[in-house]
Amino acid sequence: MLETPRIIDDVDFNAARDRLENNHPLTTSPRVVNSEILLTGLAHCAKCHSPMRIQTGKSGAYRYYKCGKRADAGNSVCTGCSVRMERLDKTVLGVILDRTLAPGRLDELISPLLERNLDRERTVQNRIKGLKSDKREMKTQLDALWRQISTEDLRLDASLKAYIEKMQTKYEGIARAITRLEFQNKVSPRNLDSKSLSNFSKELRNRLTAEGQSQFRRTYVRSLISRVDVDQEKVQICGSNAVLAGLASGYNQSGRLVPTFVQEWRTGEDSNPRPPDS
Ligand SMILES: [Zn+2]
Repeated sequence: MLETPRIIDDVDFNAARDRLENNHPLTTSPRVVNSEILLTGLAHCAKCHSPMRIQTGKSGAYRYYKCGKRADAGNSVCTGCSVRMERLDKTVLGVILDRTLAPGRLDELISPLLERNLDRERTVQNRIKGLKSDKREMKTQLDALWRQISTEDLRLDASLKAYIEKMQTKYEGIARAITRLEFQNKVSPRNLDSKSLSNFSKELRNRLTAEGQSQFRRTYVRSLISRVDVDQEKVQICGSNAVLAGLASGYNQSGRLVPTFVQEWRTGEDSNPRPPDS
């Protein structure tokens, strides 16, 4: 089985070690919780590195991100945490707003990128090639599994379901990494001065905190961030400065906040290795 790819170009742009108990400004802001899950596929258990899964609490009132391994096999396998969805979403958004998009901070993050070099682009190119081959291989494996299930050579029991779910999460991760790296290589942060960065940051902060923008928030957060590692006490957020620069550059040129490069793998599309009736 393939390992989830490590996105080599990622920089820990926040060095965030936030206590979840922190009172972020958003705590007092209008409701930011969306109908869509903000961090699926991004949130990982800091202990065992498996993707976190959404679970509903006993009362049914709250939803939680929970370590997928622990959800599958219990506390003896991983003691990784379970965090209220609302709380983790707020924490992550808070970090984006207070650190990454804070005045002056974007300058710091992006200016080193202005000196790009060809070697770096070539390295990324090779990485993309490797990931594409991983993705193809994974699709072949998934297709073969579904074929065997449809002809009843394989029985779709709980353990096979869990295995396929895990593979599909990895497949999605690979697809996202490819899109992200291709975007990084395509854009270069031209003409990004302090003024345009500050305009971008102001506009993005407004949209991210506005009511009725849950879809925008979800899409944009998923462009900005590549991974969130979650522990009971702290979260660590990774994102790419190059992607950040690309988004700022796009806004600078078009005047619109559109993360157009986001083409996530979803259920229901042709390229998707689930059976048609699932
Ligand atoms: Zn875990």
